[in-house]
Amino acid sequence: MDSRILFSSVNYDRYDADATLPAKFGRLVDRMGMRETVKDKWTVIKMHVGRAIGYTTIPPLFVKILVDKLKSYGSKVYITDQSIDEARARGFNEDFLGVPLVPACGVTGKYFYKREVSFKGLKNIDVAGNIQDAEVIIDLSHVKGHGACGYAGACKNIAMGCVTDRTRHQIHGLEGGIEWDEEACTHCELCVNSCNHSANRFDENGIYRVFYHHCTLCQHCVKVCPVSAMRMTANAYRDFQTGMAICTEEVLKVFKPGHVFFINFLLNITALCDCWGFSTPSLVPDIGVMASNDIVAIEKACLDAIKVENLIPSGVPQGLELGGEGHLMERLHGKNPFIQLEELEKRGLGTRKYYIEEVR
Ligand code: SF4
Ligand code: SF4
Repeated sequence: MDSRILFSSVNYDRYDADATLPAKFGRLVDRMGMRETVKDKWTVIKMHVGRAIGYTTIPPLFVKILVDKLKSYGSKVYITDQSIDEARARGFNEDFLGVPLVPACGVTGKYFYKREVSFKGLKNIDVAGNIQDAEVIIDLSHVKGHGACGYAGACKNIAMGCVTDRTRHQIHGLEGGIEWDEEACTHCELCVNSCNHSANRFDENGIYRVFYHHCTLCQHCVKVCPVSAMRMTANAYRDFQTGMAICTEEVLKVFKPGHVFFINFLLNITALCDCWGFSTPSLVPDIGVMASNDIVAIEKACLDAIKVENLIPSGVPQGLELGGEGHLMERLHGKNPFIQLEELEKRGLGTRKYYIEEVR
């Protein structure tokens, strides 16, 4: 059976607040039919609050609309992300949102539930304590590109955001390591300055060193190098997406059937993930918001809505040539983003077949 996708478009037909996206979003949340499920239960909203001077995460206004709806249904709500250190400075504060904002693995980062899997280097899925303790989860995702898997939406928000650093490291480890070309390197140190994890440095002999314990293999250093002196040693990006699907399955297993909801924002669809701490112009015009009970269907519907023919050239770094094959995100990052959907579907998490109901 095809899965239902609720969709509210950014398009408007008159100068009237009620015809704009926040008003439509409130109606879309009502249409999701969550009232009976969330009543008297703890509902966690998992989102990415972003970092530093990034300005393209989901605007707090929409989060507040969602929170208020859930509270009006009788739910006990809190919001979480892997790190909330910078949330307040970025406009996500408890005074405005009216509910607690907590780090997914607690203030020490050590609050999690262990699960074991076996897929190459992925052995431990450490489900964040503040995810597993909730009774209902709303996976609230900003849709954008991603250097490691082409596309980041609902699956990425769960797989990389509801677990410990150890699990994230293991998933990134599925991609392989970093190779440095001493001959090509000009020692500009852009790679060192771009690392958010203090994982790389030049030693006293000018040799590039990566501390893999800290390294998340996020590829920031690889991407910023102006002379392409670094590359990943293995083109195993398929394994990365498989790892994300395995992790998503393990995390979502902790919730009863029907207690998981997905909301994807197709606004400010940028080339890179929000963890970079900066924003670039949109790749395509804003589209709207989608919601579903089916993670595979919503990811497919979002990818389908991002059309290469709508590309806004300023969303791509100047001088970068897009590849000629596949989805816009594949042309940009060289990775087929549909693999994660196939892997999720294989695990019985949903279907790529969907139909759309518009909420105006
Ligand atoms: S960014 Fe590239 S050129 Fe610059 S120091 Fe790092 S490896 Fe060398
Ligand atoms: S891959 Fe990421 S974490 Fe590892 S050294 Fe490069 S920038 Fe740092």
